[in-house]
Amino acid sequence: MHSIKVIDLKFQQAEKTIASFLIQGKEKPVLVETGPHSTWKELKSYLNLQGFKPGDLGAVLLTHIHFDHAGSAWEFANEGVKVFLHPKGLPHLANPERLWKSAAKIYGDEQMDKLWGPMETIDENLLVAVNDNEKVVIGDLTFTAVHSPGHATHHIAWMLEDIIFTGDVGGVKITDGPVVPPCPPPDINIEAWKSSIKKILDYHPKELYLTHFGKISKPKEHLCELEVIIDDWAMWMKKQFEEGLSAAEITPQFMEYTKQQMIDQGVDKNLQKLYEYANPSWMSVSGLLRYWKLKQENRL
Ligand SMILES: [Zn+2]
Repeated sequence: MHSIKVIDLKFQQAEKTIASFLIQGKEKPVLVETGPHSTWKELKSYLNLQGFKPGDLGAVLLTHIHFDHAGSAWEFANEGVKVFLHPKGLPHLANPERLWKSAAKIYGDEQMDKLWGPMETIDENLLVAVNDNEKVVIGDLTFTAVHSPGHATHHIAWMLEDIIFTGDVGGVKITDGPVVPPCPPPDINIEAWKSSIKKILDYHPKELYLTHFGKISKPKEHLCELEVIIDDWAMWMKKQFEEGLSAAEITPQFMEYTKQQMIDQGVDKNLQKLYEYANPSWMSVSGLLRYWKLKQENRL
């Protein structure tokens, strides 16, 4: 038996945009996702309230190394806690300078500090690469790694019995809003993403836990809806790409397009804002344009 707590990290002082999950069995608790370092205080004080210090955890499991998922992992490693992740993600956390610099190019230094906070080096002895279908056993908790590219090449969905923590491959859904795909550069691959969705469905999970945000009790409906909107966004972007428009020209149009989709589904302004925090439109434009460009050049 285990319990799962959804921790709201209150990213940018907003609720329900980025989560971490605390899983308690009979022994040491496990954390899935750490959130960005900008929400480290929130996470630490939540753990304190539960009676834990960061070093008390049995393991940290990461779905992937994007800042909003892995930004505080180094704080746990500093206390000796092992961090489990995809083999392709490992070098980036061992030497995060490159990851930081490429993100800073997109966000600018000031935004980097405000949104994400620092990312420090993790000792390689504390980073554990996990292969597809490999099990991670922490006390009486057994997690299975489901390699699931599409959003990121180095993505793992973590399965615990009949529950799957889907990271970003399961999309973003906030409260009763629609599910949407987060499409940041540089790894978006629509075909791979749809194969990963099928792979997850084939496990017949009873529940999904989305990092953005929380529990989904009808996984099949949710993932089918996600697949439809992935195709919809990708095809919309293909048209703009073929017309030769730049990201700067496309972004306002894409925002208008997705805003109308939200309005059609009854999403109010406040919830639209939370979606934009969890999944900025300009990032999805950039990621999807890159996908079509690589495809055109036969590089995917
Ligand atoms: Zn991500």
